[in-house]
Order: sequence, then structure tokens, then C-alpha cells
Amino acid sequence: MEDCIFCKIVKGEIPSNIIYSDEKIMAFRDVDPQAPTHILFIPRDHVASSAAVRDNSLWSDLVGCAVKTAHELGLDPKGYRMVINTGSEGGQSVPHLHLHLLAGRNLGWPPG
Ligand code: 5GP
Ligand code: ZN
Repeated sequence: MEDCIFCKIVKGEIPSNIIYSDEKIMAFRDVDPQAPTHILFIPRDHVASSAAVRDNSLWSDLVGCAVKTAHELGLDPKGYRMVINTGSEGGQSVPHLHLHLLAGRNLGWPPG
């Protein structure tokens, strides 16, 4: 999608600190980290939000990739949080589906 920030990151038109990339998923560090580890996982193809997912296999790709990355980064013992904000009340500011992986501090509950 032309004006989408994350599509521009996928195409390399906006620089990002890439953590992982395959034919379906990309992961890069959040530009405004809310925790010592803050990584975004996105589908390469534009999907506006979780509400727009039509192929449920995307969930196993996206969540599976985040869980594997967390494991490889050594986050399992202390733990981490995965968040997908959806829509305006859900706090979504970029309309390209993304999963936040947050770790490295005590994350408060409830969120927001
Ligand atoms: P949301 O609020 O939609 O759940 O999360 C969007 C996230 O994207 C925010 O945490 C924000 O910091 C991050 N973000 C916005 N623009 C950019 C960018 O150009 N590069 C990177 N790496 N992250 C971005
Ligand atoms: Zn997009």
C-alpha cells in the first residue's frame, strides 16, 4: 500500500533496524521503544489490522515468529509480552497489522 509506513519499511524505502525477515514476515525494532526490548512483527503483505486477517495461517506465522525470536533472544526465563492493538479504541496508530514484543522490565497490568 502506497502511503503505509510499514509497507515502506518492507520495501526498504524507510530505514529500520531489522531483526528478522522471511518471505512472509518481517521484524524490526520499534522507533520509540516502550521497553528495553521492543520489536514489531509484521506481515510483508499489507493487512490493515487483526480484524482484516482472512487467512488464519498468518497467526501462526506471526505469533510463531515472535515466540521463536523471544526464545532466541533469551527472553523466556524472565518473560515478555506480545500485544496487538486493533482499531482506535485498541490503540492502533499504524494501520498495518503488527505484533509488539516487549521485554526487559516489569510490564504493568492492566495496560493503558
Ligand atoms: P500501534 O500504536 O499502532 O500499536 O504501534 C505502532 C508502533 O509503530 C509504535 O510503537 C511506533 O513507535 C512504531 N512506529 C511508528 N512509525 C515507525 C517507524 O517509522 N519505524 C519504526 N521502527 N517504528 C515505527
Ligand atoms: Zn502496509
